[in-house]
Amino acid sequence: MEALEELPVATLPKKKGDKITEHIPETDMPRIVIIGGGFAGIELVKQLSKEEVQIVMIDRRNHHTFIPLLYQVATAGLSPGDISSPLREFLQDNKNFHFRMARVIQIHADEKEVETNLGFLKYDMLVIATGASTNFFGNKELEKKAMKLRVMSDALELRTRLIENFEEALQYYDEEQDEIEKHMNVVIVGAGPTGVELAGAIGELRSHVLPKDYPELDFSKMNIHLIEGADRVLPPMSDKSGRKAAKYLEHFGVEVSLGKLVERYEDDIAYLNDGTQIKTKCLIWAAGVKGNVIKGLRDGAEDRGRILVDEFNRVKNHEYVYAIGDVSLQISDEHPKGLPQLAPVAIQQAENLGENIIRLQKDKELKPFKYVDKGSMATVGRNRAVVDAPMKISFGGFFGWFVWMFVHLFSIIGIRRKVLVFSNWVWNYFTYNRGNRLIINKDLDDL
Ligand SMILES: Cc1cc2nc3c(=O)[nH]c(=O)nc-3n(C[C@H](O)[C@H](O)[C@H](O)COP(=O)(O)OP(=O)(O)OC[C@H]3O[C@@H](n4cnc5c(N)ncnc54)[C@H](O)[C@@H]3O)c2cc1C
Repeated sequence: MEALEELPVATLPKKKGDKITEHIPETDMPRIVIIGGGFAGIELVKQLSKEEVQIVMIDRRNHHTFIPLLYQVATAGLSPGDISSPLREFLQDNKNFHFRMARVIQIHADEKEVETNLGFLKYDMLVIATGASTNFFGNKELEKKAMKLRVMSDALELRTRLIENFEEALQYYDEEQDEIEKHMNVVIVGAGPTGVELAGAIGELRSHVLPKDYPELDFSKMNIHLIEGADRVLPPMSDKSGRKAAKYLEHFGVEVSLGKLVERYEDDIAYLNDGTQIKTKCLIWAAGVKGNVIKGLRDGAEDRGRILVDEFNRVKNHEYVYAIGDVSLQISDEHPKGLPQLAPVAIQQAENLGENIIRLQKDKELKPFKYVDKGSMATVGRNRAVVDAPMKISFGGFFGWFVWMFVHLFSIIGIRRKVLVFSNWVWNYFTYNRGNRLIINKDLDDL
């Protein structure tokens, strides 16, 4: 899945316009190139599906993932196909839509073309919707050794590591408690929604699933640590939700450390800034994101690791280049630090841009983007979630969990996937089981 990322730039075709343009017809319609088939990219395709434009979507992967449920794949509750859809699915009813699985390496704004590992492609309008990736804030050591959760391959790698650690823990004698605990302990860095949801799900695994799988191990020795630099859990949500989530985490036996930072991770030991050392073979970094900014943009377009856009999502100092979703930085009086990197922002920006592209074609005035905050939520294990609804209404508990499930189920693409996720949830709920506890590791297949 990640193989394209490994391609050296030297393999780029020298002749302009091969490979990627094969089978993409030249037409009189404007060509809109969309980089990224995430929430923003696919919403824009939907908006423009009936318009007289040629759309070329480029993504390094061939599928869209419903990222908010990635942690459930990582903790064996769902399987990859339940929350991912092939991007070519969007092709089927639209003859003007073309998809290419490729990696965009550089933008050549003066020539109005993008450079990919499959060659160069001209555009009339370019939309950058490349999302964000995990930010290790320059700590190369952590980047190399910590687990992350951003794309499907991360979730599968994390699931494998989690389960493999228990298989390996069994290989040690009782006297080697240090080794056993190192394999059982989990450290999660960052108590934002991702860290909290992961901690809750791993807490549930420890309570209901792992002791049945590994009766030889003493699970009172397994510690789940959640480390947060801020002074409370769920910093982006309300105080009330943060307090509630902390209580729920306590219920699942998660040890929360606030106001602390993980500075180093060496020889299976996480070193905190207050001198604490935690032995673990599984450190999960959920402490920050940075925009996937593509090389080649003109000066002034990049700010704080994101692409600076105006109220119409036009990239600063560029013509016909737009950025939407996590990669964009849209500053307003209401949001002086930019909009949050959330799926609803990406979807709403795509909707507005789609409408504006239609307006542009009809020579109508453009509509500025206005974010409608419909609230945020996070779940903590079974039966518990916190919800910050509009008008400063916050609630949680079982009702919050029910709302969380309904909203997520409603948002997953396709009826088949909704049914799959729902049936998995019902099965997991009543059986206390996690059917996807599979170790998928290529090395194990070598003879
Ligand atoms: C674990 C986790 C949980 C989350 N939970 C929630 C939640 O509960 N609610 C919520 O609102 N938000 C949540 N988010 C945030 C949400 O997922 C993002 O805000 C959303 O995905 C942004 O959409 P996007 O289209 O901008 O980017 P993405 O969905 O990340 O899509 C970007 C696409 O661009 C492609 N791409 C990137 N670079 C290139 C390149 N150079 N060439 C070709 N293709 C490229 C990628 O392959 C990807 O398909 C969560 C994020 C994470 C990581």
